[in-house]
Amino acid sequence: MTAERRPLRILAVASGKGGVGKSTLSANLAIALHRLGIKVGLVDADIYGPSQARLMGSEDQKPVARDKKLSPVSGVMDIPMLSMAHLVEPGKALAWRGPMVSGALGQLIDADWGDTEWLVVDLPPGTGDIQLSMVQKHKPAGAVIVSTPQDLALIDATRAVSLFAQAGVPMVGLVENMSGYACPHCGEISDPFGQGGAQATAQDLAMPFLGRIPLAIDIRRRSDAGDPPAAGEGPHADAFRAIAQKVADWAKAN
Ligand code: ADP
Repeated sequence: MTAERRPLRILAVASGKGGVGKSTLSANLAIALHRLGIKVGLVDADIYGPSQARLMGSEDQKPVARDKKLSPVSGVMDIPMLSMAHLVEPGKALAWRGPMVSGALGQLIDADWGDTEWLVVDLPPGTGDIQLSMVQKHKPAGAVIVSTPQDLALIDATRAVSLFAQAGVPMVGLVENMSGYACPHCGEISDPFGQGGAQATAQDLAMPFLGRIPLAIDIRRRSDAGDPPAAGEGPHADAFRAIAQKVADWAKAN
C-alpha cells in the first residue's frame, strides 16, 4: 500500500508595506520550520523585488524544467526554493502587467515540490490586485503578517489582514519585527520604532501574536550574506525558532 500523499499547503507571509522585514522573516521562518522537522519549501513571490535567492545563498543556481514543471533549487540547509531571481537576469527591471505576474507566480507555486508539506510564500508587499488574485487562486492554508511596531506600519498591516479575511484565508498570527534595538557596544535597549504595537494590534484584531524579532545588525548582516541567523545558534535563532514553533503548532491543529 502506498502512503497517501499529503497535499502541499501554502503559508503566506505578507506585510502591508515594504521594508518591514517580510523577506527576512520568510527565509528565517522556513529555516526554523525545517529545523523543527517539517518538510518545507520556499517561494519568493516578491516578483518586482526578489531577495530570497540572496538570503538563502542560491543566487548562482538555475532551476530546470521537467515535464513543463520547474524543479526547485536548493537554499540554506538544502531547503527547496524558487524565486524570480532564478529566472531573470540580476538587476533587470521587470515591466510586467498583472496577468504576466500571475502567470509567473503560478509557475513558481505549481513547480515540482516533491514531498514538501508546507510552502512558505513570501508575498509582494502591499494589498493590490496581484496579491488578492494570487491569494484567491492559490488558496493559502494560513497567513502570517509581519509589521514593525510603529503606528503607520500597523495601519498597513491591518489592511493586509483584511485582504486575507476577504479571501477567507485563516490568520496564523502577527509578528513584530525590528522590535527594540540592542546597542552592540553598551547593550542598552532602545526602541527606534516603539515596542509592543503589533502585540496590541493583534489583540485588537483578535488574532494570535507570534512573537517579536529585535532590530539587530547581526540579523541584517547574516541575512544579506546568505547565512540567515535561524540556521545558527544564539538568541536570534531562538527567537525565530519560537515563532516557528507557534506556526508548527497552528499547522498541526489546522
Ligand atoms: P521586506 O521584505 O518587508 O521588504 P526585508 O526583509 O527585505 O523587508 O528587510 C529590509 C531590510 O531590513 C533588509 O536589509 C534586512 O536585512 C533588514 N532587516 C529586516 N529585519 C531586520 C531585523 N530584525 N534586524 C535588522 N535588520 C533587519
